[in-house]
Amino acid sequence: MKEYTIALVAHDNCKNDLAEWVAFNRLKLANHRLICTGTTGKMVEKAINKGIDETDSSYVRVKRLKSGPLGGDQQLGAMISEGKIDYLFFFWDPMGQQPHDVDVKALLRISVMYNIPTASNRATADFLISSPLFSNSNYKPKVYDFSTYINRKL
Ligand code: PGA
Repeated sequence: MKEYTIALVAHDNCKNDLAEWVAFNRLKLANHRLICTGTTGKMVEKAINKGIDETDSSYVRVKRLKSGPLGGDQQLGAMISEGKIDYLFFFWDPMGQQPHDVDVKALLRISVMYNIPTASNRATADFLISSPLFSNSNYKPKVYDFSTYINRKL
C-alpha cells in the first residue's frame, strides 16, 4: 500500500474528538507519515500509541510542526503548495475564536486550491478514511493547471 503524508490538526475544543478518532483508526493511519501542528501532534502520538511502549517496533512517530498559532498552520499550507501533503484532517472549532483565524482560513483555502482531500469534522473524516479511494494507490486527485494565471499579461 502506498504511503501517504497525512496532516492532522485539531483546535483545543476538538482535540479529544481527534484523539478518539485517531485511536479508533490506528491501523489505517499507522502505515502512513503523520504530520501535525505542535500540540495536536503530541496528543495524536499519545492516542495512536496507547498501550505501546516507545521502544516497540509498532510505535508510531508523528512529525510535529510549530503550534498552529505560532505558524504551524502556515507551515502545513506551504507544504500543501509544494505537493507534500496528501490528506488533511482538520477538526477546526466552529465556536471558538482563534488568535490565528487568518492562518486557519489560509490553510483551508490552500487545501481547496490544491484539491487536497480534506475533512473538517469527524463524520467527514470517517467517510474519507473508509473510502475505497483512500487505499487505492491508483487514485490521484486532479492536479489543476494554473498556467493561465501564472502567465497572465500585466
Ligand atoms: P496546535 O495547533 O496543534 O498547536 O494546538 C492547532 C491549530 O492549528 O490551531
